[in-house]
Amino acid sequence: MKICKKCGAHYPDDKIFCLDCNERLSDKLSASEEQKVRANLNEQMEQMYNKTDPLYVSKFDKTIGALAIVCAVVALAFLIIRHFTDQIIGFLPFAILWFILSALDALIPRLTWGLEKIRLSFFINGADDAEPGTLYLMGRKISFVSMFILGLAALLKSLFL
Ligand SMILES: [Zn+2]
Repeated sequence: MKICKKCGAHYPDDKIFCLDCNERLSDKLSASEEQKVRANLNEQMEQMYNKTDPLYVSKFDKTIGALAIVCAVVALAFLIIRHFTDQIIGFLPFAILWFILSALDALIPRLTWGLEKIRLSFFINGADDAEPGTLYLMGRKISFVSMFILGLAALLKSLFL
């Protein structure tokens, strides 16, 4: 692989001049340099792809989703222990429910969007092809974050009060 120093275009080894700007191309890249360029390109492609997918699961979504799963497991453990030791269960079942809903919405946005489309199909035609709008996408983040906070509140209240 060769690279044009002026515009950054990539060419096969047998090319001598850049087709876009007629600049003389650099020497052939070494194997490690070429690997770096390719990795960089792959990353750029992935970012472009993610930007065009409105229901892309971001790092933030993954973090909240993972936390919600951990908290659901903790709440479930306390629920089981308290059930068998005849202690007050409190809001633990609600905590588990909120955490599971939060994790589902954070990690599988297509699931909630699919349900929303079913709801929409009662009111409009062509709901199948509908794309989520900015407001829906914002609402989605607000909803899974608030469900996580509700779950946390229910868990803490059950454990310490
Ligand atoms: Zn060029």
